[in-house]
Amino acid sequence: MSSSSSSSSSQPHIALFPTAGMGHLTPFLRVAAMLTSYDVTVTLITAQPTLSAAESNTIASFFAIYPQIKRLDFHIIPFNSPTPDDPFFIHWEATNRSLHLLHPLISSLSPPLTAIFSDFALATNIIPIADRLQIPTFILLTTSARFLSLMANYPFLTSPEISNNEAKNYIRIPGLTDIPKSSIPPPLLRPGKSLFTSTLASNIVSFSKVKGILLNSFEYFESETITAFNIGEVQSSFPPILPIGPIAPYGLVQGDHSLPWLNEQPAKSVVYISFGSRTAMSKDQIRALGDGLDRSGHRFLWILKGNKVDKEDKEGLEELLSDSFLERTKNKGLVVKGWVSQEDILQNPAVGGFVSHCGWNSVMEAALHGVPMLAWPLHGDQRINAEVVEKSGLGLWEREWGWGGEKLINEQEIGDKVKVLMEDDIFRGKALNVGKEARKAVEKDGGSEKVLAQVINSLNLKGRE
Ligand code: UDP
Repeated sequence: MSSSSSSSSSQPHIALFPTAGMGHLTPFLRVAAMLTSYDVTVTLITAQPTLSAAESNTIASFFAIYPQIKRLDFHIIPFNSPTPDDPFFIHWEATNRSLHLLHPLISSLSPPLTAIFSDFALATNIIPIADRLQIPTFILLTTSARFLSLMANYPFLTSPEISNNEAKNYIRIPGLTDIPKSSIPPPLLRPGKSLFTSTLASNIVSFSKVKGILLNSFEYFESETITAFNIGEVQSSFPPILPIGPIAPYGLVQGDHSLPWLNEQPAKSVVYISFGSRTAMSKDQIRALGDGLDRSGHRFLWILKGNKVDKEDKEGLEELLSDSFLERTKNKGLVVKGWVSQEDILQNPAVGGFVSHCGWNSVMEAALHGVPMLAWPLHGDQRINAEVVEKSGLGLWEREWGWGGEKLINEQEIGDKVKVLMEDDIFRGKALNVGKEARKAVEKDGGSEKVLAQVINSLNLKGRE
């Protein structure tokens, strides 16, 4: 595979199309970056305007680093949701409702497209467009194989047997262990439609029609689930599940002022706390978390969000945390409001543990660097991802903490768990082992690298037919 910035008509041309949210944009950018080391032309389609400042900043920096990747801004028609809903899911809906505008834009690309890598939330509307162009669609999945096994069984969730039966507290997944009802995202169980539920329902039906499902995971981490899919046990109509993870970071740094502080801390002494790009806790929970970190006695780097959408996150640190907390902890902790480079933080030798909501990108990033996690899942796929984290040995999970906002987790519980995270050597050893396996998967000729090479090769062969 040689690197190439020029395009020729015999070269595969792949368009990638993520939906809103850094958790979706990030793996697409990383795959786009990975594809530049193959003889492939790459076009990144992004729905504009983006919702968060983090997305627009990241997209701008990405194209500055990768000028050889073609940029296609897809202007979406605004959608006013009749009922209040998550702004990111409203953005997904707006993108879906605008997709009839896509065909003319991509049918004239040069060289002609040979494949589309689509976000799962767009699949149903992307497939007919790809069919018209006579090219395959691949889904690039932004969650775990384990969550996919729930999605693949989605229609069962709405059956009265599950949703109305209090006694039935799990869902059976063919070929795999049951998923407890307590791990199923509550909107999927609630009567009435949330956009999350309707997007999932309308797209899961199309998974059988795509050429493959590219998975940001690796054999060692989810081997049982990946195998069960690929021998047709979970859902016999599904295409191959193609593990290409952990999808490697591409080295983008956006003005991160936490690193000079981190560089001065002793090895493995700092616990890093972040709940991803779009999760804010209640003020009471923020205060209890602060006191819990203080109580643990460990150094900490805490990325604090006060609002789901960064453009609306206006409160300063002093409004979220007390002066006495900030004063008390100033020599051992750093609290940051704003975007940091998590990929750099997780590979910094000072970081000894990661308290995370278990967004799937965060899980894969911790796996890649063998950083032990304390799973604190709050919504969406995160409890199911936490189960994977626990089972693989990458982290521990206190199930009783429930969904975000369900109950207040007090400072003592938090302090005690952070101590275990930072002080248990057996546990640290297991996480390091996951890291070793993760790096093996992505190194040259590793399992994940080979899978991606095979996908590209199949497009090459198609182009020469
Ligand atoms: N991230 C980051 N800096 C931040 C917050 C998040 O680099 O200040 C990155 C993080 O490394 C991950 C992504 O944003 O790649 C968040 O995705 P994830 O799936 O972990 O969670 P989500 O934000 O979708 O809940």
